[in-house]
Amino acid sequence: MRISKRELEGRAEALGRRLSRCSLCPNGCAVDRWADGRGRCRSGASARVASFGPHFGEERVLVGSAGSGTIFFSGCNLVCLYCQNWTISQEREGTDVADEELAGILLSLQRAGCANANLVTPTPHAASIVRALVLAVEAGFERPIVWNCGGYESVEVLQVLDGIVDIYMPDLKYGNDDVGRQLSGIPDYVRRSQQALREMHRQVGDLVMDADGIARRGLLVRHLILPEGLAGTDRIVRFLAREISPDTYVNLMDQYRPCYRAAERPELRRRITPEEYAAAQTLARTAGLHRFRVARSPLGSVHWAGRTARWEATDVMKDEQRLEAIVHGDVQGVFFRHHTRLEATRLGLSGTVRNLADGTVEVIAEGPHAALERLLAWLHRGPEMARVERVDARWRDAKEASSGFVILR
Ligand code: SF4
Repeated sequence: MRISKRELEGRAEALGRRLSRCSLCPNGCAVDRWADGRGRCRSGASARVASFGPHFGEERVLVGSAGSGTIFFSGCNLVCLYCQNWTISQEREGTDVADEELAGILLSLQRAGCANANLVTPTPHAASIVRALVLAVEAGFERPIVWNCGGYESVEVLQVLDGIVDIYMPDLKYGNDDVGRQLSGIPDYVRRSQQALREMHRQVGDLVMDADGIARRGLLVRHLILPEGLAGTDRIVRFLAREISPDTYVNLMDQYRPCYRAAERPELRRRITPEEYAAAQTLARTAGLHRFRVARSPLGSVHWAGRTARWEATDVMKDEQRLEAIVHGDVQGVFFRHHTRLEATRLGLSGTVRNLADGTVEVIAEGPHAALERLLAWLHRGPEMARVERVDARWRDAKEASSGFVILR
């Protein structure tokens, strides 16, 4: 936080005024959210939170020893056909929270030792977030703020956030507006996202780490590789290298899997191939980028570091494992799968959960061993309405390094 408390209060008021004819994002719905008007994101005047807690599945530079303090906000200003978190983004699974409650969440993450406050899909809730920050800062909150968004941001709103946000972590989804229109329902994603990234970089510059390798300030861009080159990776990496900075830290993500309404598009009905992912890496290197995290290679999960194009296994990825668990007891019909998915997502794990015909629940999860241990401990308890009798667990080597967690029906 690089502004005074008084200035922060002024920024909160400025964002609050935008809710009267909502213009918190480029959709510009102009609904009065104070009067319960609902725009494209269907958010109200209060923030809505799906879950929060230490998250160990984020980029290594955000995690530290106690995790990234992640708050998953409900609702989204984009409608992506393939959204992995569609129950949160589109169905708005979650709970409305008052400013005081949100401030309490921020403070609880700090008390838990989290390296930062990682705000996931914060855009529709910018006004509530800054109001909550006023309260949290007054009570001693001082962690870096990570703005973890879809890249479709208003430059004017970003200017209000100048000095509040320490790390911008936008998705850069598409290099082609036709694709953005078809897959996310947005007519001008390329122009808007590029304007937003220029403003983000103007404010915070390239990503800077402290002596422990934890990000303190700067820009971290995520780009999800889609099948058939749909994401326009070539244009994305050229834009970043030429118009933002060749030192931009980029996470090239391989975790696309068909979810939500992906079946509506034939190209989206499969995962990407190793060849498609390798081609994306080559495009990034050829464009001149040299700080990027990649998720899959012939070596397994790797981190590409430095201008010497040296591939290194990351410490985080070396302990990736697979947990296969069968949960016995009164565990069906009590939202067990739903809560398992929330817990696994919070822990940054990938995998699946499903009901089996014999009345048990099968959970398969992959990720860092420590996070899997936490999930296993949680499975022994389950959600409030469940009665867990026992959990049969088997450990395996990880098969893949992805981060989505889905309910199989
Ligand atoms: S934040 Fe929501 S209501 Fe406001 S302009 Fe964006 S999509 Fe519309």
